[in-house]
Amino acid sequence: MMTSRRASGGSTSSSCALCEGSNLPSCCAACVNTRLFEYHATLRLRRNLRDTLQSRIAARLEAKRKAEEQRMWKLSKAHDIKELRDRLSELKSRTALEKMKIKQASSDLKVKSGTLNVAFITVKLFLSLCFSLMKCEIHYSV
Ligand SMILES: [Zn+2]
Repeated sequence: MMTSRRASGGSTSSSCALCEGSNLPSCCAACVNTRLFEYHATLRLRRNLRDTLQSRIAARLEAKRKAEEQRMWKLSKAHDIKELRDRLSELKSRTALEKMKIKQASSDLKVKSGTLNVAFITVKLFLSLCFSLMKCEIHYSV
């Protein structure tokens, strides 16, 4: 691990003359400690980066979940609205039909009422005529 890091040339830390000559990454305690410190710092940086990326991903997932929730809610409301519109349209046409029926019944009632009035007047005239005749009969018979 350490050799590959050193070979890649990413590290700028210098080694002591002993380690440089040994053709190894590090062989003295001071260089090993330095390398360990560098490695630890890199590890900490990468862990921070990982945490940042994880929280960014979590935020994106949360936003996506909320968007999906909203989309589903909108879809459900659109369905409800469509159902209500259909119901309203049905009620409107039913009301129009009932209105027409009532209008027709009212018109029929008017005609019947007119006929009944004529019959009533006729009966009234007939009765008054009968009474007049009866009065005349009584008058002449006495
Ligand atoms: Zn050294």
